[in-house]
Amino acid sequence: MSFVFSPSPTVSVPVLGSPSRFPVHRIYCVGRNYEEHAKEMGFTGREPPFFFLKPADAIVVVDAGQTGSMPYPSQTQNLHHEIELVVAIGKGGKNIQAADALSHIYGYAVGLDMTRRDLQNDMKKQGRPWCIGKAFDHSAPIGPITPAAQAGDVMNAEIFVQVNGKDRQRSQVSKLIWNVAETIEHLSAAWELQPGDLIYTGTPEGVAAVVSGDTLVGGVAGLGELRVRVA
Ligand code: MN
Repeated sequence: MSFVFSPSPTVSVPVLGSPSRFPVHRIYCVGRNYEEHAKEMGFTGREPPFFFLKPADAIVVVDAGQTGSMPYPSQTQNLHHEIELVVAIGKGGKNIQAADALSHIYGYAVGLDMTRRDLQNDMKKQGRPWCIGKAFDHSAPIGPITPAAQAGDVMNAEIFVQVNGKDRQRSQVSKLIWNVAETIEHLSAAWELQPGDLIYTGTPEGVAAVVSGDTLVGGVAGLGELRVRVA
């Protein structure tokens, strides 16, 4: 087969302890999945989970022990951090039941769902899609994937992000409104999951702005840390 121009390279994430990389298919994100974050965004209660996507090439890969760099994006004055547990799907499927969901998981990573909050809020007010606020270039920094068997008790792990050494977000993955298995059940009812899909599972309270020159250090206990500098 020939192409009229060279196809884009496959986006991939390193896997801890492996020379092979995890090829990324799609990036799904869960909205408002921690109660205290839902409240700070002006919502309450346990609404059904809802999803949005980022393009696979929005990934900014940060290798273990390295500091990644994301450019401050255009058209915003309010770039927010959202630290998230990321689930890496290794076995696809549709209508996956929560009881079977963990067998579809290849591993876990630490990710940042970077958000142009001012543009997202404008779109919300107008009832328009969030893409410009959420799915922009370089909006999805991610650290290496830890295979599930080596990841420890992720579902009860601490999750945090600091900016310039000061705490911004600190919570527990156990506070997810829809846990990882329930999220996979809901998501796979709407889309057929594929190996290579990443799921950003939602962020706890404490989202706030960063500016050029800031350094973010985020983590989920057992998965290492993700360091990103805003250029
Ligand atoms: Mn998010």
